[in-house]
Amino acid sequence: MKIKKILILLLTAVFCTTSINAAVNKYKVFKKAKYVGTMTSYEVDDNIYFDLNDITKHLNAKKNIYSVSKKIVLSIGNKKLNISRDMVDFDGISTANIPSAFILRASKYFLNSNIFLSPTFAKIFELKLDLDDKSRTIKIYDDINITSVKNFSYTEKTRIVVYMTKKLDYKLDTVGKTLVLTVFDGSYIVQNDIIDINDGNVENIKMTQDPNLFKLVIEMGDNFDGYESSTLKDPDRIVIDIKSKPATVENRISGVISPSIPDVSGSSSSFVLPDKLKPNGDEKTVVVIDAGHGGKDPGGRAVSGKKEKQINLEIAKKLYDILKKDDKFEVILTRSSDYFIPLYERSKIANDAKCDLFISIHANAHKDKNVNGYEIYFLSEKASDPWANEVADYENASINYEEGTFDYGGAAMVLHSMARNEYINEGSKLAAYVSRYMSKDTPFNNNGIKQAAFYVLRGTYAPGILVEVGFMTNKKDKKNLDNPSVQEKVARSIYKGILDYEDQNK
Ligand SMILES: [Zn+2]
Repeated sequence: MKIKKILILLLTAVFCTTSINAAVNKYKVFKKAKYVGTMTSYEVDDNIYFDLNDITKHLNAKKNIYSVSKKIVLSIGNKKLNISRDMVDFDGISTANIPSAFILRASKYFLNSNIFLSPTFAKIFELKLDLDDKSRTIKIYDDINITSVKNFSYTEKTRIVVYMTKKLDYKLDTVGKTLVLTVFDGSYIVQNDIIDINDGNVENIKMTQDPNLFKLVIEMGDNFDGYESSTLKDPDRIVIDIKSKPATVENRISGVISPSIPDVSGSSSSFVLPDKLKPNGDEKTVVVIDAGHGGKDPGGRAVSGKKEKQINLEIAKKLYDILKKDDKFEVILTRSSDYFIPLYERSKIANDAKCDLFISIHANAHKDKNVNGYEIYFLSEKASDPWANEVADYENASINYEEGTFDYGGAAMVLHSMARNEYINEGSKLAAYVSRYMSKDTPFNNNGIKQAAFYVLRGTYAPGILVEVGFMTNKKDKKNLDNPSVQEKVARSIYKGILDYEDQNK
């Protein structure tokens, strides 16, 4: 009896393993063409999995296994890869559905290789993996120094920008209507890539990676009229301007690509710059007023009295009424009552309206109830101080209420960096003008002008400020925030600041 039972068990075991068509293999791992060891793979049907310990070692990562919540977290550099059963989160910037992202076999964890082969992984972690299942080799490129290639179409030129992590030598050669950029020791995220531009001036850009060279081949269109190149710092980048013949202006693309189109599929992207900083003659100045939070997102916690979302809306509406009476302005509210709008939608409303100035209104909170006063923020990638960073993280956390996964780190949010520098400059001026009146005409103390990376400012193609009017956690500030006549003073101060800013820009 006993023997028979064991036999049945054995047969079942054999049957099970063969039926799912699984195989265990060893892959050879190379870094910079140098052999560095092996990785154990587990192949089930068409999926290749790698031993968690092996991949952790070869990526210089740290691993945390949460067996209760069924989650594995790999820390690579200062970034985190969150792997759940069917979902992978790339450092909070992007997510991907990867069925059976990890599996457990013989009490060992294996990770789906698709996680590491995706362009999203390469782009966010600046690590490229190439897998060849015929020769069973994996190449790891952890020395990525070219992070992206972007193009911008202006009326008189097409600008191509190569973003690098350090300064690299390069040369440019022309062969007929082809311009070739060679970057020495350049290492790009993907092996082969192509960007179709077709703006009359440039047809497309092809990118190829040779062992020690990165090549960018630019195919010029019919309107090509010479080129210029230069380098810029912070971050290091090569800028190539392809000039077009003036007669062709009317054939050019114009308009704004909506920021609500997530794009993380590739490392390259196209963008047509809105020209917002030109004087627009007799046209009205379009001001978009954004009352922070709303609906299911109440904003900062108020101990008593009005919620942040309500205070923000009341001040926003007062500012709206004031601007509405001045026929120099066209005014738009991102929300006019108590409902939820995602942050990217707020930017989209502003961009669709071809907004000239963007004003976001919020109220602050602090664990120390003595902290009080107003702060005016303009956009920056780096916060001016740790507190500014906390405020930005706090306001950006509104995305936790959003459904779906808008990619706040993706192309649409980051690629207009050149225009953004100008907006930042203008935003800082506007902040200064508004602050003058806030400190003079309102009861709130002046905590100064600060910088931080607010999503709502980053996605908007116009100079913008975010006003933290006062602290809801401070008794005196809260009383003032709730008070309609103080709210009116705040709205007037912002209005006067806008007027001064406009005067100065004439
Ligand atoms: Zn807020």
